[in-house]
Amino acid sequence: MSSVPVVRVALPTPLRRLFDYRAPPSDTPSAAIEPGMRVRVPFGRQRLIGVAWQTAAGSELPEERLKPVLERLDPRPIFDPATLDLLGWAADYYHHPLGEVLAAALPKALRLGAAIDAVEVRWRLTAAGRAAWAQGEPRRAPRRRALLGVLAGADAAGEAGLTAGELDAKLDSWRDAARALVARGWLAALHCAGSRPGDAEQASAHGAVSAGPEPNAEQRVAIERISESLGAFGGFVLQGITGSGKTEVYLRVVARALRLGRSALVLVPEIGLTPQLVGRFRQRFERPMAVLHSALTDHERLLAWRDAFSGRARIVLGTRSAVFASVPDLGVIIVDEEHDASFKQHEGGFRYSARDLAVVRAQRSGVPVVLGSATPALETLQNVAGGRYTRLVLSRRAAAAVLPRISLLDLRSSAMRAGISTPAVQAIERHLGAGGQVLVFLNRRGYAPTLLCTACGWIAPCRDCDARLTVHLSAGRLRCHHCGADTPLPARCPQCGFAVKPVGQGTEKIEETLATLFPGIPCIRLDRDVVRRRGDLEEAMRRMASGEARILVGTQMVTKGHDFPNVTLVVVLNADQGFFSTDFRAPERLAQTIVQVAGRAGRGEKAGEVLIQTEFPDHPLLLSLLAGGYEGFAGAALTERRQAAWPPFSRLAAVRDSASTAEAALAFLTQARKSAEDLRAEGGPGTRGIRLLGPAPAAMAKRAGRHHAQLLVESADRAALHRFLDAWLPVLETLPSARRVRWALDVDPMELF
Ligand code: ADP
Ligand code: ZN
Ligand code: ZN
Repeated sequence: MSSVPVVRVALPTPLRRLFDYRAPPSDTPSAAIEPGMRVRVPFGRQRLIGVAWQTAAGSELPEERLKPVLERLDPRPIFDPATLDLLGWAADYYHHPLGEVLAAALPKALRLGAAIDAVEVRWRLTAAGRAAWAQGEPRRAPRRRALLGVLAGADAAGEAGLTAGELDAKLDSWRDAARALVARGWLAALHCAGSRPGDAEQASAHGAVSAGPEPNAEQRVAIERISESLGAFGGFVLQGITGSGKTEVYLRVVARALRLGRSALVLVPEIGLTPQLVGRFRQRFERPMAVLHSALTDHERLLAWRDAFSGRARIVLGTRSAVFASVPDLGVIIVDEEHDASFKQHEGGFRYSARDLAVVRAQRSGVPVVLGSATPALETLQNVAGGRYTRLVLSRRAAAAVLPRISLLDLRSSAMRAGISTPAVQAIERHLGAGGQVLVFLNRRGYAPTLLCTACGWIAPCRDCDARLTVHLSAGRLRCHHCGADTPLPARCPQCGFAVKPVGQGTEKIEETLATLFPGIPCIRLDRDVVRRRGDLEEAMRRMASGEARILVGTQMVTKGHDFPNVTLVVVLNADQGFFSTDFRAPERLAQTIVQVAGRAGRGEKAGEVLIQTEFPDHPLLLSLLAGGYEGFAGAALTERRQAAWPPFSRLAAVRDSASTAEAALAFLTQARKSAEDLRAEGGPGTRGIRLLGPAPAAMAKRAGRHHAQLLVESADRAALHRFLDAWLPVLETLPSARRVRWALDVDPMELF
């Protein structure tokens, strides 16, 4: 025990605790360390950069064992309190060490100690505040009136707001009044990078650059309902197929928030962050925007992060990890394509759902959150059914387009030509003949998924995975889609020397087949093999949109992006992978894909047609999709989930591990299970409703040379599950077999394998 001032620091280590350091002496410039500032501290023989989490007047440790903080890296916190609060919540909920969670939320440059510009907070009036002041508000509260008066004076004098020091000089006490006025949307606190004097002015520029189309009736209802909630939490599900005008609703809601002096955080899936989307935001607002995605360099990421943090950018648009960006004066959060799997981080140590964290962040910041999708996740629909979210539906296509007609093609009874059935070929011919464009969807890139020896039956395997190598014919390579292994395409069987041949179809093969079937018709392919850079996608989209290309073959990539108003036929070549997975979410993903792809047909004046090739035309979930659309499917699928007690009717956590041998991977999880059972036998916290499933090898057990396995923990009660995990994790960390594996906890796992 000692009673010297200490700083409790969250360090990027796997240890689930804070570390006490002696605060710098009170007469040094770096004395005032506040939560959210980075500090450099000694840690064993290393020096680490961590984040001050708390300060305290004393420590459990004796004084002589307390080491001093070596350096304070930030003159002011680099996390705002709301973001710190969210990260603390996330560390608890995902049971991950706080220091690592904080590190994950920072751009790499800042993790490594880069200086953030000298930053100051400037208080200024918003447009709403200016209008209120002009109307003589606030009439009663004298402190607020005095504060508004001082800022109105500065505003009239053309100053970019006043700093706390300047306000302190003019007013006796103003901080409570400022908080109250920020809550009303009359004041904003801008964090201005000192080196960019013009920024605050730029950030205060109001008004839309382009007005956008007049919203239709349903869009108006959605915009009104969400806007009414600005200033308080509200969960909204904006459900509408692609092209129904969701983005238009986002743009209008964001405009409202900006008008109130607030900022907006917009999250999009990896594949959804297309230049068009960014372009539409840029076109609509003249304000600087921070765009955060995985393709940024470290420096670009730092700049974008800083623009968000400083308040320079009033719109922060990004993929998964942007949910952790500091966004001052947050007014609304939007999650586009909320069902998309890329919102879940399912690798590494800290596995989180950006969609779920967006909802938590909105709750804790008291702002509305909009979850947009044509095909909301079943969890989300269940939240609507339970009254937790408000559903807003855009049932019609914005530009009066007609919905496509969907039918099944029974593969068991039709002749096939390299993966395309005769009726599908005839339909393509018909639509091309009528001047339409055709989209052919197949969720498998490459030429063929298998290379087979016709003499001895040898199949080209990946050496490091339980998987076959995919034939990439034009590149002359065999590639593993799981570990990236890449070898030359052999001309002969390495086992018997006989000829080998590709079996099955990938997009490359389909492109070839279509070229043979429809000579002279320009066809383009869209998948990760042809799209290497952002510009490639753009170019393909442009050729399709301009009508230069008539047929588009592609993977998931074709479901988002540009409008193709002239696409009248969509063919889904293989809808069957979703039915045979060990993952209970596979049918949901399949239905979502079908609906998204189908949504590409008939977006213009002409009605569209969708053909789905399947060997299981009687599958109940497929039939429910056809008869009742996504709603019908969701109803049937939720009933199945309820019967099987899967989420959202229960809560899951997965302990996953990998090791150099299958035995080691299973040994750890077997011990883990045993320790859970021991806890249960002792009546440990939360253990009563716990169900343990496994351990079992992953469906593809060997990946990249490592053997994977998992153990599932299920409980009907979320709180009980978390109490159990709190008690169980420290036990897992000390299991002797833990040293021979890499393991991680995945709370609310999205993919089970
Ligand atoms: P989504 O985000 O649901 O795919 P978008 O907002 O991108 O839909 O709208 C699809 C297309 O329809 C866009 O080109 C958009 O400009 C246009 N659009 C949206 N709302 C309207 C409207 N009310 N009137 C006319 N066109 C609209
Ligand atoms: Zn052979
Ligand atoms: Zn492999």
